[in-house]
Amino acid sequence: MDYQQLLRDSMETARRAPRRGRPADYIPALAEADPESFGMALATVEGEVFGAGDWEQPFSIQSVSKLFTLALALAEGGDDLWHRVGREPSGNPFNSLVQLETEQGIPRNPFINAGALVVTDRLLELTGDAAGAVREFLRAESGNAAISTDDSVAASEARHGHRNAALAHFIASYGNLRNPVDSVLAHYYAHCAIAASCRDLALVGRFLARHGLRADGSRLLTRSVAKRINAVLLTCGTYDAAGDFAFRVGLPGKSGVGGGVLAVLPGRGAVCVWSPGLDAAGNSVLGVAALDALTTATGWSVF
Ligand code: GLU
Repeated sequence: MDYQQLLRDSMETARRAPRRGRPADYIPALAEADPESFGMALATVEGEVFGAGDWEQPFSIQSVSKLFTLALALAEGGDDLWHRVGREPSGNPFNSLVQLETEQGIPRNPFINAGALVVTDRLLELTGDAAGAVREFLRAESGNAAISTDDSVAASEARHGHRNAALAHFIASYGNLRNPVDSVLAHYYAHCAIAASCRDLALVGRFLARHGLRADGSRLLTRSVAKRINAVLLTCGTYDAAGDFAFRVGLPGKSGVGGGVLAVLPGRGAVCVWSPGLDAAGNSVLGVAALDALTTATGWSVF
């Protein structure tokens, strides 16, 4: 199959979408993104990588980072994490506070902000440097040593992060954080504000397509843990539109408000698409449309 052409065709089909959405503006540094930016990359388990459009341009990975914090926290610390965070779709916006009170400070899943704060806290406990661990992992898996945090985006998030700070303090009030709230928030913002390209993230995402094996062939996760992460991605990875994403795309995937979506093709590879215009749920409009076109053309959904 001509993967290059497949990506171009998927993007072309997506461009016919009637709307483009709008870049996130609640983090001012992200509002400056160009909604016309659009790139897509596919990396195979064998190590080949194909791309189209702005596939080599770094963007703010935002919540796509939550997939990596989860994988690293489970790899380093095992199943104990599941006592502190659930694995059910929340049916609420990603930054909602309401469920936390009724559920006693145990966030519904690792991909809403509340859950990601607990996972970041766990990774900080295990490594002493949660954001650094994510950056190192991305560099190693992509072969791109230049991947780093965009400090201006992290600072912009911190300045406007009242809701995340509220979530973190609320969780801490239930005893579900082990580190000081300020450290957890700083690491959370620093891993969300990592800049990486579609090329980089597609290469990184292969560890889930390879059932837990890293790029160098070493094992990060058991097959069972890799399967579980893919399951949580499918059910919770795309905000409270995960049902719609499963319906249209049918792959485990994680989106971020920077406009990136990383999707796993189990046994085959990983695809990353980026375009900053978001729909009402926070998912990239062109990104989801391109993945929809790709799985429709190839039949590569998990169903
Ligand atoms: N850093 C962003 C926030 O906490 C991540 C949101 C996202 O991409 O879902 O609001």
